[in-house]
Amino acid sequence: MSANNLHELSLAQALAGLQRGDFSSRELTDACLARIDGLETRVHAFITLTPDLARQQADQADAVRARAKKTGEALPPLLGLPVAVKDVLCTRGVRTTCGSRILENFVPPFNATAVQRALDAGMVLLGKTNNDEFAMGSSTENSAYGPTRNPWDLARVPGGSSGGSAAAVAARMTPAAFGSDTGGSVRQPASYCGISGIKPTYGRVSRYGLVAYGSSLDSVGLFARSAEDLSLVFSQIAGYDERDATTLDLPVPSYDLPQAPDLNGVRIGVPKEYFIAGMQAEVEACVRQAIEQLQALGAQVREISLPHTEYALPVYYLIAPAEASANLARYDGIRYGLSEESETMLELYRRTRGAGFGSEVKRRIMLGTYALSAGYYDAYYGQAQKVRTLIKRDFEQAFEQVDAIACPVAPSTAFKLGEHADDPLAMYLEDVFTLPINLGGVPGLAFPAGFDRQGLPVGMQLLGGHFNEAVLFRIAHAYQMVTDWHTRAPAL
Ligand code: GLN
Repeated sequence: MSANNLHELSLAQALAGLQRGDFSSRELTDACLARIDGLETRVHAFITLTPDLARQQADQADAVRARAKKTGEALPPLLGLPVAVKDVLCTRGVRTTCGSRILENFVPPFNATAVQRALDAGMVLLGKTNNDEFAMGSSTENSAYGPTRNPWDLARVPGGSSGGSAAAVAARMTPAAFGSDTGGSVRQPASYCGISGIKPTYGRVSRYGLVAYGSSLDSVGLFARSAEDLSLVFSQIAGYDERDATTLDLPVPSYDLPQAPDLNGVRIGVPKEYFIAGMQAEVEACVRQAIEQLQALGAQVREISLPHTEYALPVYYLIAPAEASANLARYDGIRYGLSEESETMLELYRRTRGAGFGSEVKRRIMLGTYALSAGYYDAYYGQAQKVRTLIKRDFEQAFEQVDAIACPVAPSTAFKLGEHADDPLAMYLEDVFTLPINLGGVPGLAFPAGFDRQGLPVGMQLLGGHFNEAVLFRIAHAYQMVTDWHTRAPAL
C-alpha cells in the first residue's frame, strides 16, 4: 500500500499497519486529508475541517509510539487512527454548529465524553461532519450549511441526520466517525451509504456533550466499515460517566470477536411487522437472503411479533418534538451564538429564533409545544408515553425468546435530493423501522446486505436486548466473515 492510498484501509487494517510500523499516523492522516480535499466539493461531508489539529495530534501519536519502542510503555489502543465527529458533539476549541445558523459561532470549552474517550484512546480528529439541523431529519438536507451527497450516487441523499459522517466513511475519507441516533440517525445513513453503524443501548454511552434533541431517546453512535472496526472504537467510548446520570455502571465487555463464523446456539427472531406492503422488493429480498445466511452459519431463526410496532411512528413524533421544544428553549439569543438586535426581550427571542432556526426545527418546536400544552398534554404526550411503554415491553418479551432480532433498516434505498422536500410526512415514514428501537432503548447495529438494481446499498439491522451489544458485534462479524458487501466502495 503506497502512502497516498492509506485512506483505503479499514480501521483494523490501519491499526495493524501502524503497529507494524508500515507507515506513520502522520502519513495516514495526510492520506485522509488529501482524500477529503479531492472529494469534498462534490460530497460535502464536513462543516468544519481541522487539518492543523489533526496533523498535530498525528505527530504527537507518532512521537508516543516512537518513545514506547524504547521504554516499552503501553500504548493507547487506537493511537494515531483518524476519526470524524458529527457536529452535534461538543469539541473543545472547535466550532460545533449542530448544522444550525443559531450556533454558527459556538465554540465549546469542553469535549463530549465520548469524543474525549476516543482522543484519550489516541484518535486523531479530522473535523466535524454535516448533519440535519439539531439532528432533525433523515436526509441531511436540513443542514443550514447545505446538503451532503451520497457517495454511491451524488444525486441522492446519504440519509440522516448523521449523513456527513456516513458519507465520509463510505467515501473513504476517514476509517471511523461519530454519529448520534435519536430515531435512526446512525443506522439509516449507514444503510444508505453501505457501511456499518451502531446505536448503543440507552445508558451505555455517555450523552454528556451531545447537544440535546430528544433526551430520552438520544444516543451517541459510531460508523465504520465493519462490525469489527465498530467494536474497536465502541469498547473505548462505552461505559459509566458520572456526568451523565443515565449511564449505567456496568462492566464493558472487551468485545473480542470469534475467529470462526459460527453462530451455533444463537437465536434470531424475525419480526413479521417489519416486512410491510409498499417496501422496496429488493430491500426485502436482500434482508431475507442475509437471514438465510445467518441460519446457514448455525443460527436458529424464527418468526416473532412486535405487536405495537405500528404505533412507533406517531409516538416518536410526539415524544421527540416535545422533548426538543423544551431542549431548544435555551437558544434565546442571550447565552449562545446568534443574537439579533432588538428593542425588547421578547423581540430578541423572536428575532433570534426566527432567523436562527430552519423550518424543520420550527415545525418540531411547534408540534412539541402543542403536544405539551395544557388541555392537550394528556391526549398527546401522556398517551404517547403509555404506548411507548407497550413498545418497550414488546422488545423485553421478544428478548426472552431470542438473542437478537434481524430486520430491515429502511423501507427503501437512498432517495433523490429534494424528493421529500415538500412532504414532511414522507420523510418521517423513512424512520418506521428505526424509531421503535430508540423508544425501547435497545441497541441496534446496521450493516450492508447487498445492492439494489440501481447499484445502491441495502442495509439491515440487528437488535439486541438491553446492554447486549456484544451479540450484535458477534453476529454481524460472522456475517462479514462470509460476505463482502462491507468491503465494496463507491466509484468516485
Ligand atoms: N429522522 C428522525 C428525526 O428526524 C431521527 C433523527 C435522529 O435520529 N436524530 O427525528
